[in-house]
Amino acid sequence: MAEYKSKIKKNIIVTTFGGTWLILPEIIGFCCDNVKIFSENNIYNSFIQTLKNNNINSIDELWIICTHGEQSNQAIEKFNLWFKKVSEKGEKIPECKFIGLKDISDLTTDDECKQMADFIFRVVLKAYEAKGSGKLLLSLAGGRKTMSSDMQRAAFFFGCDILFHIADSGTPLKIEPDQLLEKLNKDLANAVFPVIIQKKIQTSPLTEIPKKLLSSDFQIKFNRENTASTYLLDEINSRLINAQSISFNAYRQRTSDFKISIFHGLHQLNPIILNQLNTEKPNKEWINKLPKTDLHCHFGGILDIKGIIKVAKANKNRISRALEQNSQFLQWYNMIHNFVEKENIDELKKIIHNKNYLRKEIPEKFNIPCPLPLASFIICFEDKTDLLDKIVFGEYQDTYKYRNIGIESYERLGDLQGSGLLQSKESIVEACHYLVEYCKQHNLKYLELRCSPVNYTMGGLKEDEIVSIMYDEFEKCKNIVDIRLIIIGSRHGDENIFKKHVELVHNLIKKDEKYKNFIVGFDVAGNEAKKSPKELREQLLPLMKECVRFTIHAGENQPVDNIWEAVYELNADRIGHGLTLIENEDLLFRFRDKNIFIELCPSSNYQICDYENNNYPLKKYFDEGLKITINTDNPGISRTDITNEYDFASNIAGLTKIEIIQLIRNSVQGTFLPKNEKKKLMLQFEEKIYKILTNE
Ligand SMILES: [Zn+2]
Repeated sequence: MAEYKSKIKKNIIVTTFGGTWLILPEIIGFCCDNVKIFSENNIYNSFIQTLKNNNINSIDELWIICTHGEQSNQAIEKFNLWFKKVSEKGEKIPECKFIGLKDISDLTTDDECKQMADFIFRVVLKAYEAKGSGKLLLSLAGGRKTMSSDMQRAAFFFGCDILFHIADSGTPLKIEPDQLLEKLNKDLANAVFPVIIQKKIQTSPLTEIPKKLLSSDFQIKFNRENTASTYLLDEINSRLINAQSISFNAYRQRTSDFKISIFHGLHQLNPIILNQLNTEKPNKEWINKLPKTDLHCHFGGILDIKGIIKVAKANKNRISRALEQNSQFLQWYNMIHNFVEKENIDELKKIIHNKNYLRKEIPEKFNIPCPLPLASFIICFEDKTDLLDKIVFGEYQDTYKYRNIGIESYERLGDLQGSGLLQSKESIVEACHYLVEYCKQHNLKYLELRCSPVNYTMGGLKEDEIVSIMYDEFEKCKNIVDIRLIIIGSRHGDENIFKKHVELVHNLIKKDEKYKNFIVGFDVAGNEAKKSPKELREQLLPLMKECVRFTIHAGENQPVDNIWEAVYELNADRIGHGLTLIENEDLLFRFRDKNIFIELCPSSNYQICDYENNNYPLKKYFDEGLKITINTDNPGISRTDITNEYDFASNIAGLTKIEIIQLIRNSVQGTFLPKNEKKKLMLQFEEKIYKILTNE
């Protein structure tokens, strides 16, 4: 039922009906708040309010299941008379449909009772589909007792939003249609009272197993001449009998049917929920709630403009002191401040487009340590966040213009952060806090953060001190997110720095068990065109000897050969981007066989490369069964976040909810955690996702 998709949204009441015409005005009077006939009833207001609390503000249709007896016919006539008169008064009343079985007047035989039960099931099944995304209310108010009890069974089988009854207080009301056109007095109105028997009755999984019940297989016509049968009743009875073994069968069927492997525990989910996951598209709100990981995220690119300002401000005390002590620096600072006040975009752009100016020229000229000149420049924008955003991103503020700009232009967008700004303990600590807060907002539970500590030593810190600061900060926030490090060696930079990064990892993991847990891998990043993986093998051997795991940026904008080399020369466990893998089918199959993970970063990939023409390989990789993971690369520079990346991925490849869960599982599997920790994380994720899916 639940996967029934329709733009239709109707609130429908289905009721059984016998020989008492008043039942129908009672239902209408208590469920439609424009028809005030029972408004003097003591519980009228609270009943209407309950319906409203369940998003039932009006009733569109009333389906009335009736028989053919003399009494029923008279009752229908009376109701029609009332209906006509009330409608003439201009009251809006739900469309009323009388539905019945041909030739059945009295439910006197066993066969007739079964046929009526079958019919009630057929009508409720039809109503469940016909309401679309609206609400279904089932009423036990009228008809014979067997009909009410069948209605109740139907309610618990197909599910409904409200199951209710209208009872009388001992003496049934006796009123003719003419007397019921205005509000009843208090005494009369209190002769009946509505009772909600149950709200939100779940649809039984048996409606789906072994196959979904559809009203097209058990049809009804909206008249009183339907043909009697017992097919649906027989089917439901047999399903109930088989229910003992159903859980096992369903599990077996699901686990053999599913093309993809989700968390194993999720196979225990109600099949209705699983079917929903299999067909529904996710939205951001849903994705946000899910626990997530990010395996490809650069510390130097995490800050958005707000974050850049916040981190710069962490250096305020030192900046104030420098300004007090150094009049030249103060003069320079006032000039910048003036540019910002006057919004002199040309001058400001000139400054940030000259990468060395704030990082090297000014620090040397005034003898002020990094990152104070850069941070003081940023602080001038404290109350002008939008201006700084405009100066840094310009036309790329428009997502559709921020496409295919090439790696160099992309990297320049990060000049005000990374190795520019993270040159002090204050900056690093604040950036760590900002990151943790971001993780919290997006339910990011595990993050492998990449960074190049040697690049952050221009302000006097040592590389191992930097790792230690980060370790301490992240250790404090373990209950929010588990953050580990991947140290980066850059291909295009100074060879010495590459070497220092290799040594840093080598020394730290040998020195201290805590760092062995904290630093989970090594990454080779930077311009792929500058050095091939093969040329780095020699330098990376010491780490290979220690069995350090590798993720290599490869095949982002260079041919697939680079990916081949990363796998065959450097034994990469994961590949960053791997977009050109699509060029080599054999290697692609190798990836699948060897479980090599691919870290896709959709926004960044679209921003750097040309993927406007639907040629992004995500869908192909997914269908080929490759272990792909979704990541942010540089959330700040890419103006994105992990929720957005999953949402973007889902839009690009038309992924369903279950496929999103598969991607999340992939990324837990692809972490560089040791086996026991990975298993623990997998179980944590499974439990959280299970709770989210069953509480929806
Ligand atoms: Zn990257």
